[in-house]
Amino acid sequence: MPSLSGMLTVKSVSRSFGDHQVLHDVSFDVRPGRMTGFVGANGSGKTTTMRIILGVLGAHGGSVSWHGAPVTGPVRQRFGYMPEERGLYPKMKVAEQITWFGRLHGLKPATARHNTDRLLEQLDLAGRANDPLDELSLGNQQRVQIAAALVHDPAALILDEPFSGLDPIAVETVLNVLRERSAAGVPVLFSSHQLEVVERLCDDLVIISAGRIAASGAREDLQSEFGTPRFELVVDSDAGWLRDLPGVHVVDIDGPRAVFDIQHDAPLDNGRGAQTDQQVLQDALRRGAVRSFTPVVPSLGEIFKEAI
Ligand code: ADP
Repeated sequence: MPSLSGMLTVKSVSRSFGDHQVLHDVSFDVRPGRMTGFVGANGSGKTTTMRIILGVLGAHGGSVSWHGAPVTGPVRQRFGYMPEERGLYPKMKVAEQITWFGRLHGLKPATARHNTDRLLEQLDLAGRANDPLDELSLGNQQRVQIAAALVHDPAALILDEPFSGLDPIAVETVLNVLRERSAAGVPVLFSSHQLEVVERLCDDLVIISAGRIAASGAREDLQSEFGTPRFELVVDSDAGWLRDLPGVHVVDIDGPRAVFDIQHDAPLDNGRGAQTDQQVLQDALRRGAVRSFTPVVPSLGEIFKEAI
């Protein structure tokens, strides 16, 4: 059995449909023990990339490797995949169906049943074990799909839009199950077009735009790399004087509270001198009390806008 802490590496992958090239030199890592969010607009190439990782679709160039070696059939058998087109049997009972997926991946009957029971418990579906799938709500059907992807204790998880259509409580439930796997060393790649969901859930981020990787890496690194340096200042009196400082772009002022950017491209030699955050703070202190001065971390939406 392969170890549970491999790295999945996508390297220079390209793919066309007819003469439409939809992936261009796509490279990124899915690291063990990390939740990697794969974000991009509809049609940007997320599903195509995931299908290539799973070998459902061939690449026209590049490679996918696991532990540094090309991914082969038996290795893929150890991956867990939740496809975009959900592939469950509407009339089959929930537990029977999950156990069957476990058997398909080579589990012994008792192990498949044991894993099924555990997942149904974790996903709050134990009470529905003997109901046919099509009697469940769509959100619950999606939880079953997630159980089907996890039942064989996969060595890596590739999930296409696992959170779409889930209510906030279900998002938390599914997230806890995925976090448990990732904490055990399993690399988890999940796609989403919902930036606010990814923002909360991912450790690493891969941003794809029109089939090209626009940015990838640890979320905090991307947050400090992208986005104008932005700060929030709270003073005692009106903060309107900030508008007159060179090199400062005021985003919002509400009486004594102001949000502003320091502009990288401000001329340094304009006779008044461009500002640094510390100069702004000193200015503020000269004028009176400073209640708070805080860097503002850019949202994923802002990173996304800047990266693509
Ligand atoms: P995403 O998952 O980011 O929404 P996809 O990978 O599904 O994007 O699609 C990327 C592009 O590839 C789109 O322009 C889509 O129309 C095209 N595409 C995907 N699959 C096929 C296919 N089987 N035949 C032709 N074009 C396809």
